Amino acid sequence: MNEKRFRYHREDFVPFPITMEHMDIEIRFFDAHVEAANTIALKALEPLTHIALDARDLEIRSVRFRPHGSPPQDARAVPYRLDEQQHKLLIVPPRPIPAGERFLVETESLCRPSDHLLEGIYKDVTPPGAPQQYMSQCQQWGFQRILPVIDDCRAKCTMTTTLEGDARYTHLISNGNISRRHNPDGVPVPVPGHPHRKRITYHNPVPMAPYLFIACAGTWDELVDFVTYPSGRTIRLEYLVPPGRRHDARLPMDILKDAVLWIYHNQGYEYPGETYRTICMTKSNYGGMENVGNTTIVTDAALVTDHSLDSHLLYTYAVIVHEFEHNQCGSETTMETPFDMWLNEAYTVDVERHYMADRFDPTFVRLQQVDALRNPLLGPLAIEDGGAAGAIVRQGFNDPDELVDSVTYVKGAEVIRMLRLMLGAKTFDAGIRLYFTRYKNGNANTDQFFQCFEDAAGVSLAAFKKKWLERPGYPKVTARTLYDAPSRTLTLTLRQDTAGDEEPFPVPVDVALVDHHGRDLEGTAATLVLTSREQTFRFADLPFPPAFASLNRDASFYGSFAEENRDDDTLALQALKDPNRFNRVEAFRTLTDRQRILQITSPGCAVSDAWLSLYGRILTDADLSSACKACMLRIDEQPLDRRYAAWFPELVRARDALMAAVNARYAADLTACFHELRPSLVSPASLQDGIEKRLLFSVLVDLIAVADTPEVHGMLLDAFQNARTATERCAALTALHRSSWPGRLALLEETYALWHRDVTGYANYLKVIASGRHPDVWSLVEREKERPGFDLTHPTLSRALLVTMAQNTRQIWTEDGIDWIRRHVIELASINAGIARRLLNTFQHVPRLKPEWRRRVCLALEDIVERVSEKTNPSIFGQAAAYLESCRRHTVLEA
Ligand SMILES: [Zn+2]
Repeated sequence: MNEKRFRYHREDFVPFPITMEHMDIEIRFFDAHVEAANTIALKALEPLTHIALDARDLEIRSVRFRPHGSPPQDARAVPYRLDEQQHKLLIVPPRPIPAGERFLVETESLCRPSDHLLEGIYKDVTPPGAPQQYMSQCQQWGFQRILPVIDDCRAKCTMTTTLEGDARYTHLISNGNISRRHNPDGVPVPVPGHPHRKRITYHNPVPMAPYLFIACAGTWDELVDFVTYPSGRTIRLEYLVPPGRRHDARLPMDILKDAVLWIYHNQGYEYPGETYRTICMTKSNYGGMENVGNTTIVTDAALVTDHSLDSHLLYTYAVIVHEFEHNQCGSETTMETPFDMWLNEAYTVDVERHYMADRFDPTFVRLQQVDALRNPLLGPLAIEDGGAAGAIVRQGFNDPDELVDSVTYVKGAEVIRMLRLMLGAKTFDAGIRLYFTRYKNGNANTDQFFQCFEDAAGVSLAAFKKKWLERPGYPKVTARTLYDAPSRTLTLTLRQDTAGDEEPFPVPVDVALVDHHGRDLEGTAATLVLTSREQTFRFADLPFPPAFASLNRDASFYGSFAEENRDDDTLALQALKDPNRFNRVEAFRTLTDRQRILQITSPGCAVSDAWLSLYGRILTDADLSSACKACMLRIDEQPLDRRYAAWFPELVRARDALMAAVNARYAADLTACFHELRPSLVSPASLQDGIEKRLLFSVLVDLIAVADTPEVHGMLLDAFQNARTATERCAALTALHRSSWPGRLALLEETYALWHRDVTGYANYLKVIASGRHPDVWSLVEREKERPGFDLTHPTLSRALLVTMAQNTRQIWTEDGIDWIRRHVIELASINAGIARRLLNTFQHVPRLKPEWRRRVCLALEDIVERVSEKTNPSIFGQAAAYLESCRRHTVLEA
């Protein structure tokens, strides 16, 4: 079965017969192609009759063999064969090579960069009047698209890289330090006999994994700053930005300076290089990529402008510290194979999360993380519910890009978080320090990572690793509390439901008992670890009966949680009093969930008066933080009770009913709150305060817009026209676009004219278009695709329009919507696989859909499997086939 589903398995990553010691590379950039010459110093680890290098979509000009230590003129041409299927260059040496012998292989090759296959060297958007802009992306297997190489994370080696290109380029960039022997002034020198070309040589003295290689040629402006470590050592920070946009990098530069020192103080890591560069790229399938000293970040996240939404700004903070942390976790200590990729990412995300919690309110940050966990299209819980994926350490893959998903990044980070909770912060820190010391400048796999924590803690983590890493799924935990007055004891029973004879997860549950005044009862705060199917914990000798137990604080484990015997009154009390603010939000969301499920199971039933009254109290609570208030008042389409997670049309109707009930009762209070909030949206107090207030503003706009009256349209238009930030503008414009206001199409057209020249502004506009609720949303999206400035291969624009559309549940869960997804997955499979994969996620829910929807989605999936080539788009094909298989499995079980 595995052989059918995956192209690569762990067994494929056998020890090498050969190792790379050094590469001497020369790369020459031309208008439409790139030439490369490489001399690789190799060492045979076993006797060799042929040499295999990775090479993909390359034209090979020559291959020569040279004994170790002999001069270049001794190189002699040898036979070779390019295996296009396996992406290998097979070289026959002049004689069998014994184990231990060193030798050199010289190759000359050519690649033709694409403008949509964003791997290896590719064509990025060129600034006006400049020569062709070239970027590179080598993770995972991009290097083999540049020149023949051993393209494997374990093949770490030193390199000298010479880049040559048009003299008009402002920068020719590769890894390492500029060679003063070749470039005495530290800048490119003219190529003798070619006055319009120049060249520069870099020397990279630290062995580096091939996926971190960078070779780019482009035109940028430069913003330079410095950061000094407490030791007095200074590193130079460079931001390479599109011409004329230096100003937009000032805030990101400040964030970077802060992040470098924060990493030093919190991770004990000091960057060893002289220069750390951040390079703006327009097209990329990723937000950013660490390339040892040369981080590439997509321009709309790298720069902050008037068009930057708060979500962008938060992402900018996160991606800057994330990519910088990769210097340690990933570049210095590297995963062994793609199966260990989560090691590079999960800990790096964990560091990024701590930085965010230090720079913003920790509860706000945790609420955002939990939203990402529960995201119905891309979140790991939804992926797992679909049943086709979910194990962090995969069984196999068709394309390493598949590993770049929320299972690796979000579930992986949750697993790290749980490991810390269970071991305690001190032991966890000792384990991670051991890991970075033991594997410095080397590679490590998942077992070796855990061994470090076992050594630090003196306990076995075999069960934790097996259950959380190597199999899919999450625990579904239910709690029951019972207070016994005579013995003054509270009994807490935790139970986890597992499928069949599956072993239970080790689950850390953070708890405390809380009194009627909203204070924790002394000595009751604890991290309980549920290791079996059912366990009982006792809190004895309590001074008085607790008002409630605050359980699973800050979502302490990855999974779903419910309390069996918690009545609405106790939840209401918790929503008002729990000192853990995350759990206040969660308590109110649980009450909302109960109303939502009533609307699903008995459509049209009255919304509870008690819930509405509590809603009103929260709306007018002056002491609640804006972020908590926003998260409590926001009525999601997603239920907490995951049994209903795939009931899409019903969830949309339930949300409409709840929002209508809120609007009917509180229209005046919502409007008052809105007017009171508006002057403070650009908070003079702090960035954090401004972001939180704007989050609340967006929630209020949605609730007020339910009324859809001329007065409301007037309010929204005023909010749009007088907005001072992009977040306000987009919230008001989205609400207007969804309303019946007659001027909406004209306003959208005006907005297009104003915003489309800036990539961030354009993306914001496209998101508004794709969030429409009128039937014309389909023709509007189609029209945007046809506009001359739009490009389906442009990841930022494509994502803004198409992924937003896929998240428009109201429209997608219709016959038209399902057909739209089907067509776009097929259309994008070969030109933008990253977006196609995300759109296809819509169908991951297929086994859990109601029969009529399941039938429609199955037909769409069958058509995708039929029309997407397994050979050229194995990852899309494999994903669709896996959904079909999981659907069939489910149908058989049901029958
Ligand atoms: Zn990363």
